[in-house]
Amino acid sequence: MTGQKPGSSIPAGIHPRIDKLERHIDALMLELHQARYEQRRDAMTDALTGLGNRLALVNAFIEAQDAAALGAAPPALLLLNLDGFKALKNSAGHAAADQILVTVAMRITSAVRENDVVTRLGGDEFAVLLPATPQTRATAVGNRILAALEPNIDLGNNSVRCGASMGLRLAERHHSAEDLLQEADMAMEESKSEGRNKLKVFDPATLHARQLQRQIVGELREAIRSDQLVLFYQPIVELATGRIEGSEALVRWKHPVHGLIMPDHFIPVAEATGLIAELGRWVLRTAVGQLRRWRDDHVVPQEDFSMRINVSAADLQSLEFVDDVGEALADAGLPPESLVLELTESAIIHNNELDRYTLASLHRLGVGLEIDDFGAGYSSMGYLRKLPVDRVKVDRQFVRDLGSDPLQLGFLAAIQQVIRSCGLEGIWEGIETAEQAEALRSIGCASGQGYFFGRPVPGAEFTELLSLRQAWPV
Ligand code: C2E
Ligand code: CA
Ligand code: CA
Repeated sequence: MTGQKPGSSIPAGIHPRIDKLERHIDALMLELHQARYEQRRDAMTDALTGLGNRLALVNAFIEAQDAAALGAAPPALLLLNLDGFKALKNSAGHAAADQILVTVAMRITSAVRENDVVTRLGGDEFAVLLPATPQTRATAVGNRILAALEPNIDLGNNSVRCGASMGLRLAERHHSAEDLLQEADMAMEESKSEGRNKLKVFDPATLHARQLQRQIVGELREAIRSDQLVLFYQPIVELATGRIEGSEALVRWKHPVHGLIMPDHFIPVAEATGLIAELGRWVLRTAVGQLRRWRDDHVVPQEDFSMRINVSAADLQSLEFVDDVGEALADAGLPPESLVLELTESAIIHNNELDRYTLASLHRLGVGLEIDDFGAGYSSMGYLRKLPVDRVKVDRQFVRDLGSDPLQLGFLAAIQQVIRSCGLEGIWEGIETAEQAEALRSIGCASGQGYFFGRPVPGAEFTELLSLRQAWPV
């Protein structure tokens, strides 16, 4: 023994103060380490439930992906949201809501293995990362969690049931934590829309559909602003005389790359994303403007010719819609009865206050109101009678079966009678042949529309049609 510390030139015992100092530093270092560890742990912990938080999830994900890169199976992510939690929170109060979250946290934890990472991402959203887990096992774990959440949660004075919607996504090589969460979230949203308390595995087709929808929405917004939309017009004919009594404006999208796109391909997207309001305003303005020009050019009579436009459910829910219609007519100097609004049964079936208010206001304004696709939905005549509508456009499925079924004409006559007895007027759509037109005329139907009289055509072509022929031979 030399009594000398390794790596030190100072003999031990000569400077006891240095020894003491060294011990002090060691203790301090340990404390610092401990504090750092606790700080890190706190930063990764959800204070309410004691579970990991988003940071913990991201760390666990990175670790599991690193292991996967070295040959382990990739991790799986389960994302879940409690069903109806907001309503529960409102009715039961904050303290009870916290108690529910803590119970849910414990139940999830008890349903998984030790090395699965259970986290709360905020609110009522929980995520479980299952390292190195194939899909079948992840599905089993997910279902086990859902089963664990089934029993009522005791809140002292009462008990509540709190199911969950769950999305599952298996990680792939290219995934960032953000990607994985987003895709698990898509699956969860799907599960929610399909009914609660279910597990849904991410489907790449959903991602594709979403991406496509996002692209269409962007392009459609641009299309409305840059005049890529066009209106086609289809004649509506008085069956007894053959006179063209009006036109229906039908929108099309002249896409710079894909060519002419039909409304069935973009109207639902516009409705789902709120773009329909802007689109509807454009249709209203354009159709009314066209009618003004036809009147000015004397291609249509000053009276007894109406323009029809299709109105969506969202329009009825918008407070500005009535003003928009009134203004468009006033700006064009047209009387309200020259415009007919076509509304599908499903558009007015909400039957809420706003719908009723809008319909009543439009009726007061004096525009024509018509139920479109009549008979395709499920509303009863009794219900329709209570609405301030004056016409119904009978769905084309009824006319289609004329000819193939000998009893069909009698059936149509009965429909016609019901419409009449309700004090309404009927317009029959989908007339494709002279025989169909004749059959409908024979049972006293007033008006018709269909390829037989003319397909929807651009404004200029419709102008030509009007100047060539004001009536079909009857
Ligand atoms: P809709 O209102 O029932 O319009 C009639 C549809 O039937 C039109 O299809 C028309 O081209 C087609 N049609 C007309 N005659 C015949 C026929 O004899 N036989 C057959 N088989 N079909 C015929 P289109 O133009 O593709 O429009 C489809 C739907 O898109 C419309 O159905 C309407 O619900 C909606 N839509 C069109 N334009 C607009 C619009 O400006 N706004 C809104 N919200 N929806 C619109
Ligand atoms: Ca229509
Ligand atoms: Ca229709």
